[in-house]
Amino acid sequence: MRALLLALLLSSVSLCVGAQPFVEFQRGDFPLILSAPHGGYLTPDSLADRTCAACVTVRDTRTQEWARFLADDIEQRTARRPWVVINLLARVKLDANRDVAEAADGDPRAAEAWQIYHAALEEASAEIMQRFGSGLLLDLHGHGHSIERFELGYLLSASQLRESDAAMEMRAGLSSIRALHSRSGVPFGSIVRGPDSFGDALFREGISSTPSPADPAPLSGQAFFSGGYITARHGSRDGGEVDAIQLEAHYPGIRDSDLHVAELASRVGGAVLAFLERWYPSAVGTDIVPWPDEAGSASCLTATPAGIRLHETCLAGRVEVVDMLGRRVMAIRMAPGEEWMASSRARGLYLARFEHDSAVLRFFR
Ligand SMILES: [Zn+2]
Repeated sequence: MRALLLALLLSSVSLCVGAQPFVEFQRGDFPLILSAPHGGYLTPDSLADRTCAACVTVRDTRTQEWARFLADDIEQRTARRPWVVINLLARVKLDANRDVAEAADGDPRAAEAWQIYHAALEEASAEIMQRFGSGLLLDLHGHGHSIERFELGYLLSASQLRESDAAMEMRAGLSSIRALHSRSGVPFGSIVRGPDSFGDALFREGISSTPSPADPAPLSGQAFFSGGYITARHGSRDGGEVDAIQLEAHYPGIRDSDLHVAELASRVGGAVLAFLERWYPSAVGTDIVPWPDEAGSASCLTATPAGIRLHETCLAGRVEVVDMLGRRVMAIRMAPGEEWMASSRARGLYLARFEHDSAVLRFFR
């Protein structure tokens, strides 16, 4: 346990069973946890295959890639990084979204990896509550159901979602967003499927889902995942201020190539930030960056028709851009000669600062 705690203190680590890393853990500084329990590839001979009758062993394709792309997208937009926990073991060796008996199917090394996975999620939750007061865990999965839509798991079954808003109000305390509901004072049905719901935020990014305003509940007979072990254990149903939603993504056009999953991450990133800004405003905060009063001409950065460019003769380094309200809109490391495109940003005046320059560049887009 002591070794585990030491490992958890490192910023980005692969947590090992024996000599081999089976869990990837990235520490964050933003009130969001990304968990990917079913996207692993490793099949070491030192762990027995899971063969129990009820054991599901199919991989949720490209969900660990989705977690990394999504973390990168959030960092590009906010200059802060979510916490990331990835099970690197194939599901035939470990299912991190089950209780330990079914997860490891009796293999002690798999059971140890399972402990590490959940200790990492608990560590992330505890630090988020301490630093930000509240936060959100997204448990990332993929489904093969026939309807091409996201399935959002709040620990509410399809039949419970088909109930009226008045009846659903009684379900809030048994959901994985119990804390969000009690903090907000907003009717539970509108958090789950109204405007400003996570389903609505996904819809605005071009992703259909249920529950959402357009698709408030799965119809009778339609397959639906309502949330599993991780959502139940690490969401706020049983206490704490970190909520959880299980995200089940369909496959066609979404997870069927690395390019598509990178595009997916960008759209989900926009939805997650909209949802966090709406429901977790004090945790997310407004990132006001102090800037020098005098904006002279920076020698390394120049404005281009599309954005800003780092001069070839300068060293590589970190560039930050803030909008007129002082909100940081970008912070990345740029290479000499590289250009950053501002085309996706709102029109207006921006300030850019390069870490090796004392002056600030103003530019319009
Ligand atoms: Zn899954």
